[in-house]
Amino acid sequence: MKKKNKFGLATRALHVGNEPDPTTGAIIPPIFQTSTYVQAAPGEHKGFEYTRTHNPTRRRLEACLASLENADFCVTTSSGMAATMLIMQALPANSSVLCGDDVYGGTFRLFTTVSNDRHKFNFVDTTDLKKVEKALKEFKPKLVWAETPTNPLLKITDIKGLCDLAKKYGAMVVVDNTFMSPYFQNPLTLGADFVVHSLTKYINGHSDVVGGAIMLNDKKMHEKLYKLQNSIGPCASPFDSWLVLRGVKTLAVRMEAHQKNAMKIATWLEKNANVESVVYPGLKSHPQHKIAQKQMSGFGGMITFFIKGGLKESRQFLKSLTFFSLAESLGGVESLIEHPAIMTHASIPLANRLKIGITDNLIRISVGIEDCDDLLQDLEQAFESTY
Ligand SMILES: *Cc1c(COP(=O)(O)O)cnc(C)c1O
Repeated sequence: MKKKNKFGLATRALHVGNEPDPTTGAIIPPIFQTSTYVQAAPGEHKGFEYTRTHNPTRRRLEACLASLENADFCVTTSSGMAATMLIMQALPANSSVLCGDDVYGGTFRLFTTVSNDRHKFNFVDTTDLKKVEKALKEFKPKLVWAETPTNPLLKITDIKGLCDLAKKYGAMVVVDNTFMSPYFQNPLTLGADFVVHSLTKYINGHSDVVGGAIMLNDKKMHEKLYKLQNSIGPCASPFDSWLVLRGVKTLAVRMEAHQKNAMKIATWLEKNANVESVVYPGLKSHPQHKIAQKQMSGFGGMITFFIKGGLKESRQFLKSLTFFSLAESLGGVESLIEHPAIMTHASIPLANRLKIGITDNLIRISVGIEDCDDLLQDLEQAFESTY
């Protein structure tokens, strides 16, 4: 694999796309909050005509994000789902798509209620490469869509193993890398063709933007995605692009802090008598801990655990917390907690949900960067008020 980046990720997050403003020297590049650009004579312009097509702030963000995923190109979008939609539009009509059976609820909804007009979808457990190979033979997909770790069960797919198999059968691979962020995992270097991110989560990290991105190395495919983005219109706004450029500067220190707190909390929960079991890729008890160690440089900030009891206990526990806000989403600096069966994964039919293992006593935490002792005390008092 050729090494694209001479500098470390923390340096690139600060400097690529963040070069000072050439006209004034302002260390923070301005937001080009404009819809259009004045032309000197018809067709005579500085490379910018209309913001859906080009915007300097968005261009800076795309340069930064491409660099973080070791990619040649990046297309940013108005949401993570818009990024997914662009890839679906880029496939020839009637393509066969093989998708992980435990992907983000919104992805599942898009594939089964919108894009199924255009393509044929089949679902498989991508953590089981034998099943994947069987499905590749049977369905001959053009594209394999994988998410690792999955949400909320944090199941891990061997990215290199999956990509090697997909290549053998002529399929491209997309990895949704939202949960790990480019700081802990780089699927393109493991053989993936596309990486997708919800910028809403760790990359922006401050819970104040909804955005998405696609990173890739194929020039022709980039041109196609860019053309689609300009034609369909789900582009990232200048202000959102600027906020993400600002948020991503601290990605490295945030991810370290998320992980440090998550490791402590997961270990503490595992010893708690009111907890049935804990799922965190950094724990030895995680069934794919070894693969996690091989392909990730850290274990992230997401923890899933099963509380003793059922809906009644889950509700009481979730209501009793102070620093863990009860909310959907993840990856922000503040701790969030949620109940997937009622909240994020409610759109998945009950039978499917139970088959995957999303039960009423399952709780998902997005561990923030608060002082860990305060978080542990908060969890302790919530357990005390529940049992
Ligand atoms: C949130 C999320 C998405 C969708 O992103 P939006 O920005 O909410 O549109 C896709 N994949 C994963 C893993 C996510 O967590």
